[in-house]
Amino acid sequence: MKKIEIDPGAGFCFGVEEVIKTAEMGLREGETLYGLGDMVHNAAEVRRLQILGLKTIDHKQLSNLPPGKVLFRAHGEPPETYLIAKQNGVEVIDGTCPIVAKLQIKLKKAYDAMDRRTEQMVIFGKPQHPETIGLLGQVNGDALVVSSVEEVSAIDPHKKVFLFSQTTMDPEQFKEVERALEEHLQKNSGEEAYVHFRSDCTICGQMKKRKPGLSTFAHQYDVMLFVSGKNSSNGKMLYEYCKSLNPVSYWISGWEEVEKQWFDACESIGISGATSTSRAQLELVMEEVKKLTAS
Ligand code: SF4
Repeated sequence: MKKIEIDPGAGFCFGVEEVIKTAEMGLREGETLYGLGDMVHNAAEVRRLQILGLKTIDHKQLSNLPPGKVLFRAHGEPPETYLIAKQNGVEVIDGTCPIVAKLQIKLKKAYDAMDRRTEQMVIFGKPQHPETIGLLGQVNGDALVVSSVEEVSAIDPHKKVFLFSQTTMDPEQFKEVERALEEHLQKNSGEEAYVHFRSDCTICGQMKKRKPGLSTFAHQYDVMLFVSGKNSSNGKMLYEYCKSLNPVSYWISGWEEVEKQWFDACESIGISGATSTSRAQLELVMEEVKKLTAS
């Protein structure tokens, strides 16, 4: 019999778990509930919530909504979204993760205290990610978003830099960006870099734990299955990390994608996932693997 185990550190992060519980509770009570954007970067979970009755809307639809409540997701929203909801009499249930909400406040405070003639804000994040859009909204869009070391060269070396991060980025990449930024400033500003550089690694603690957790788990198995939506940025990053630890790793979005031939010559199978993958989905994958390897 093959050894099949789920990574004990995998499952929804706290912020996603809370917003999903809020959605389920509202729907159980029979409320008409709209969700602004996908509640989680996970197609199967989005589908499950829609079957329960959640109506997914986009930002345009918020201005012209039939009666009901609107749930904002864990990634947070820019102030403009709250304003539109208010102007249109929409009742908001705010599912912003408390960690993201704190970060929004932190950025706004830092921005308000900045001298924009000599100082600038930089966010390490994905420009199109909803959380980054929400963060930019706190600073009137006046921050440069960099998503890689290569993009650091676009930062003005003559202004002091305040560096922050989207909560779901890779902590190691953040360090690389810090290093590249320091080098860029030293090389191009003509002065000591530390004068021009303040960095605050605002990556969420739940994210920081995932890579060390995966590194102790993934190498114990002949085959690794990594489960996450293909549109999840932390899913992509964690899968790539998983593959670097265990070359026999497969990236799947759900149990339906598991293939029997992957397990022909193996004795052990590990299952892990992103912060947007539920334990229930990992268990379904485990059941499927057990079924396929039973004979
Ligand atoms: S990753 Fe962290 S900050 Fe982001 S939603 Fe999850 S718990 Fe909140």
